[in-house]
Amino acid sequence: MKLDKIRIVLVNTSHPGNIGGVARAMKNMGLSRLYLVAPQQYPHEKAEWRAASAGDVLQSATVTESLSEAVADCQFIVGTSARGRRIPWPLLDPRQCAEHIDIASRNGEVAILFGREDRGLTNDELQICNLHLNIPTSEAYSSLNLAMAVQVACYELRMRLNAPGRSTQSNEQWDAPFTTRAAMEHFFVHLEQTLIDIEFLDPTAPRQLMARMRRLYSRVRLDKMELNILRGILTETQKWVARARGDN
Ligand code: SAH
Repeated sequence: MKLDKIRIVLVNTSHPGNIGGVARAMKNMGLSRLYLVAPQQYPHEKAEWRAASAGDVLQSATVTESLSEAVADCQFIVGTSARGRRIPWPLLDPRQCAEHIDIASRNGEVAILFGREDRGLTNDELQICNLHLNIPTSEAYSSLNLAMAVQVACYELRMRLNAPGRSTQSNEQWDAPFTTRAAMEHFFVHLEQTLIDIEFLDPTAPRQLMARMRRLYSRVRLDKMELNILRGILTETQKWVARARGDN
């Protein structure tokens, strides 16, 4: 487990006190990289108060305008959610997630995304993730306070760090680096366009096809070599379509 490879990303947080509470939760568990995507009120003295002795985590936080900027260089992304969504993604509890994060953090950048206090993460935001983390709760009330959700997730990372013998598998010996989120987003644009070109995808009735393609490709962690091969196949497919249509 490399805690310094793991960033906590808060999307569009409303309450500055929660941002401070998150900084404290992180520092208690040994994490330090906080990303704030379009926070509604920040900087703010309430964040400072709640952070207590974790002011350094706040000071060094990275503020971005968009989620894509905050995770562009990440190879593994976990989304957190209090409730099930329309297209189910691989869903794990924090302890199970910690094992995947442990492995991914050894050879890549990892992000854990946390949503808005009122609405959580959008479906689009959850669909950039490799897997989803859900904290088991009472059925009567499943939504934790934001900072408390971060605390639980980070605590499980800490527990895993304290028990390194539990590691089962590792990709440390892999022969090519894993793709970044930015490269995957370019791939999805290319895939979507190619599916339209071959008339497999009707842009006027896309249904959930691209969401399903995203889920498929995030279940396998593609490396850069594999992604280049897929991009090459798409490019050649597009050339054949153009030729068949007599475009050139
Ligand atoms: N009403 C929102 C809950 C937002 S709570 C919803 O239904 O999605 C704010 C954030 O805390 C969530 O976006 C998530 O990141 C985290 N969180 C709260 N409860 C959680 C739970 N049970 N499991 C995982 N994350 C949770």
